[in-house]
Amino acid sequence: MFKISYLRISITEKCNLKCYYCRPDNSPFVYKKEYLTYEEIAKIVRVMTKFGLEKVRITGGEPLIRPNLDELIKLLSEIDGIKDISLTTNGITLSKHAESLKRAGLNRINISLDSLKPDKFFSITKGNIEDVLEGIKVAKKIGLEPVKVNIVAIKGVNDDEILDFVEFGKKYGVEIRFIEMMPIGAEQINWSLNKVRFLTEIKEKIEKHYGKLIPTFSIGSGAARVYKLPKFNVKIGFITPLSNPFCDGCSKLRLTAEGNIKLCLRTDEEIPVRDIVRNSSEKELEEFIKNVVILKEKSNQNIIKSGYQFSDCRRLMVSIGG
Ligand code: SAM
Repeated sequence: MFKISYLRISITEKCNLKCYYCRPDNSPFVYKKEYLTYEEIAKIVRVMTKFGLEKVRITGGEPLIRPNLDELIKLLSEIDGIKDISLTTNGITLSKHAESLKRAGLNRINISLDSLKPDKFFSITKGNIEDVLEGIKVAKKIGLEPVKVNIVAIKGVNDDEILDFVEFGKKYGVEIRFIEMMPIGAEQINWSLNKVRFLTEIKEKIEKHYGKLIPTFSIGSGAARVYKLPKFNVKIGFITPLSNPFCDGCSKLRLTAEGNIKLCLRTDEEIPVRDIVRNSSEKELEEFIKNVVILKEKSNQNIIKSGYQFSDCRRLMVSIGG
């Protein structure tokens, strides 16, 4: 049977930043009234391990604003079969939480950082870059390894900082990952292909300066194609949903904060699971998840047949989790 190896779990749709391509000002976005509890999330994860699940990532909104995240991490770390627990955060309050999360069982962390220039960082996110840098330093210090820094590459906005990001990777000992901006909630975020900086161009620019990149491996690299610099021990990942899709054999599911299983980022296909997790036994939930796995395999086939189209992606990334 088809396997699910990876689940991205959103635990809130709320965020303390306002990145315009993720949570735009003009959006008619309404927060859901109720979220899954940590126990309900753990029940879903436990059942999914029967279908191959090994890796989970906590995301949001901003996951660090939901209270007691360490309790969820601990619950997940106690589930047999879960080998890797990671977190995606904007890093704003990370320095306060990193230590307790690591103690609870968090293995590693991805931190979003779209500009190294304080003014530009503020204009993209409405946040203070110093808070994020402090978070990165603390994460490194306490040994959350690897620390990966995610940059959504936007034409004319931050694509003048490519080499600065590589130098940042060298200085801080972090992996740098460039991501193509996707048309998720396309109308609301005012997405257009003209704004996307294709990562082939970024790779060329890096190679021109540092020499040919060497393909390598990174823990939990998922969709990223990872390289290292020829003369330095810095890894650079490229996530290319537009220029080079990575859907074939995708074994990733997403769980939204209110309790929908999302089959793929490229469509709005979702399957509500909250009532079942609340009102049924683990055995009944297992039967349900079995059908979800079948639907996921079909969804993969449809996406490939459609030529990797993004269609009906109305839900904003802030309420999906990346
Ligand atoms: N608040 C956390 C953070 O900032 O990392 C977790 C949630 S955020 C939705 C997860 C990731 O999705 C971030 O790295 C963000 O930059 C990325 N993201 C948001 N909208 C995107 C888009 N339209 N295309 C590509 N990546 C996007």
